[in-house]
Amino acid sequence: MVHPVKRIVIVGGGTAGWLTAGVIAAKHRGRMDAGFSVTLVESPNTPIIGVGEGTWPTLRSTLARIGVSETEFFRQCDVAFKQGARFSRWTTGAPDDYYYHPLMLPQSFGQLNLVPHWLAREDGSTFCDAVCAQGRLCDDGLAPKTIATAEFEAVANYSYHLDAGKFAPFLQAHCCEKLGVRHVLADVRRVNLAENGDIRSIDTEQAGEIEGDLFVDCTGFKALLIGETLGVPFKDCSDVLFCDRALAVQVPYASEAAPIACQTNSVAQSAGWIWDIGLPARRGIGHVYSSRHISDEQAERELRAYIGPAGAALPVRKIAIRSGHRETFWKRNCVAVGLAAGFLEPLEASAIVLIELSAKILAEQLPACREVMDTVAKRFNETTSYRWGRIIDFLKLHYCITKRTDTPFWRDNVESSTIPDRLRELLELWRYRPPWMFDEFDRIEEIFPPASYQYVLYGMGYDTAYFEDDLAAEAQKASKLMSDNHRIAQQMCGQLPRHRELLRKIDQHGLQRI
Ligand SMILES: Cc1cc2nc3c(=O)[nH]c(=O)nc-3n(C[C@H](O)[C@H](O)[C@H](O)COP(=O)(O)OP(=O)(O)OC[C@H]3O[C@@H](n4cnc5c(N)ncnc54)[C@H](O)[C@@H]3O)c2cc1C
Repeated sequence: MVHPVKRIVIVGGGTAGWLTAGVIAAKHRGRMDAGFSVTLVESPNTPIIGVGEGTWPTLRSTLARIGVSETEFFRQCDVAFKQGARFSRWTTGAPDDYYYHPLMLPQSFGQLNLVPHWLAREDGSTFCDAVCAQGRLCDDGLAPKTIATAEFEAVANYSYHLDAGKFAPFLQAHCCEKLGVRHVLADVRRVNLAENGDIRSIDTEQAGEIEGDLFVDCTGFKALLIGETLGVPFKDCSDVLFCDRALAVQVPYASEAAPIACQTNSVAQSAGWIWDIGLPARRGIGHVYSSRHISDEQAERELRAYIGPAGAALPVRKIAIRSGHRETFWKRNCVAVGLAAGFLEPLEASAIVLIELSAKILAEQLPACREVMDTVAKRFNETTSYRWGRIIDFLKLHYCITKRTDTPFWRDNVESSTIPDRLRELLELWRYRPPWMFDEFDRIEEIFPPASYQYVLYGMGYDTAYFEDDLAAEAQKASKLMSDNHRIAQQMCGQLPRHRELLRKIDQHGLQRI
């Protein structure tokens, strides 16, 4: 007898739960009349984490796929544009030490690796400015599109900064009103297993027993199904990424006309870093740090010093974080998505994008019946483990090539024993040639492609040898691409509006729907 998979039960109503519900329901909407259902069960008593304001450009296609209006998203979730991240004081710690990891690829990326040509130029321009316009757009406080650019389309690649407390309710309304998702407000008290070890149902306090064929654990740090019930162990990676605490605070602007940063600002501290995200109505600022290296009091002092006198009386929220992820993400008929799957410090906003990618595989490869579920699960686990591993490598890169030696935190971070093997080998390779397509970045939808590695490595002054003789054949082409980039940057700077001005126009007039 075949056991069809038709009843999807998602437990948890944070960003992970609602995004997963939306992506699955949008893909399988046509099956709803034939008994297919998506039910989201959410506790009325346990609040969502409510942080997570930086996203990746994938969110544009995810929102478009589930049929959200970008204009309404901007209006209801206090959204601003994000064009990358600006890392200050990560290399030397000096006040003028900064670089960008923008969201645009280097000019004509894929045709020619511009790194050695830029290294040979020695004209003082940063790598980012030499190959891409976006650092200048951020410096000038410009938006990545105009009011005439259609929803989800871009002049310069972008993602979003958003109010996480407003995003989940926004998705909830869309999923329930437009996509047929059933919403149950109830506390899960017990998880019932079938004889074969699958989850058969959940007992809830307010809504009784809910049965399902596939359960998605989106219960956040609690990991109620995957961890507490199925006992999948947590793989800690705090030996690589040391930060284990976060302090978060919401800071008002000095005036309604104050400029809004178009990038996440990430400013290195004595034992961690401060994020500074500009939303239309306020800034979201937080300090992520290692409690092995500084006390909570010192971390708070550094945070308040960063904010200045305006932040003296603002309440600060403390969040304990544990770097790592589940050993397996899909066990039996249960899949973990979001914080239930794991957590890594938000240095490159990699959590929501992982949620989107997990939800997408789930929706696209949803097993037709229980009989094929283990095969789908095996493939899901391989891909998801690969992704967590690559994010860990990429986050560690920001720390392990620092030249800072001023505190034990920075000295400990360059210890070779704390660097994952794969990253250590690649760093060795990149001493003699820059990152490129064939460095094992071979997955479809690689979160951090070689371009991202180039921006961080050369933003931080990594030393890669180049051989003049090898460059001659393509020198002219490289020079043309870099002057094309210069011209494009000037054009964009002349045409694009200021960030706050465009946000105001979107609020008043809306963007054109595609
Ligand atoms: C300090 C910090 C900064 C971050 N910054 C970023 C960022 O910039 N970018 C990014 O991409 N990510 C960031 N993240 C991660 C991001 O916040 C999360 O990945 C995202 O919000 C998803 O959370 P979640 O939905 O998995 O969990 P939660 O929001 O915690 O939701 C858990 C849900 O489970 C429900 N639940 C729990 N127990 C039960 C029960 N017994 N019965 C029923 N329901 C239950 C709760 O009610 C809730 O609805 C950050 C995280 C932290 C901690």
